[in-house]
Amino acid sequence: MDAEARKMVGNLRLVLLGPPGSGKGTQAERLAKTFQVSWISTGEMLRQAVVADGELGQRIAGILRSGNLVDDATMAEVVSERLTQPDVEAGFILDGFPRTISQADTLSRILREAGETLTCVLSIDVPEKELVKRILGRNRADDREIVIQNRLAVYREKTEPLIEYYKGFGLLQSINGDQPMDAVTEEMTAKLAVAV
Ligand code: AMP
Repeated sequence: MDAEARKMVGNLRLVLLGPPGSGKGTQAERLAKTFQVSWISTGEMLRQAVVADGELGQRIAGILRSGNLVDDATMAEVVSERLTQPDVEAGFILDGFPRTISQADTLSRILREAGETLTCVLSIDVPEKELVKRILGRNRADDREIVIQNRLAVYREKTEPLIEYYKGFGLLQSINGDQPMDAVTEEMTAKLAVAV
């Protein structure tokens, strides 16, 4: 099944959308294995930059703690650099980028310049009550209770408009994220197989 799905999809170039706590990271990691493409988590890249404590890390540490978004110009730099690395040629799953319309435009431009397009955008839907419960269970530094409501509000205001944006390009598929993890993975794999 995995090999078959992989063959059908070819070089997968996927964006995963979903609020914090939707299981995006888990699903991205699984799909990256199945389709043998690079998993690119901008949240993870930024957290690593904070740990490395260089110029970027020092500039963004407070922003990450607050649950606000790092500015679009910085994200454009970070992602442009990552998407030009050789492993990305075989395909990628973007987890956490784009998060604003401006970032989505940046991504389109990067892909256009490389003569590529996105295969698909999958949006994971989870009811808000369930999200808060899940995020509190993760116990991460930027998941403290006071920050959660802000992260969700930022998602709704800045990122949710991307659902309509990608619908407009005929790229969006919705996934029911309020089911066991394996069922979510299956639904995603099935939808990817028909998306191409
Ligand atoms: P995540 O692990 O995807 O939830 O990201 C953790 C944090 O990193 C977010 O709350 C933001 O502060 C920052 N971040 C990650 N990706 C982006 C992005 N595409 N644009 C702006 N900020 C981001």
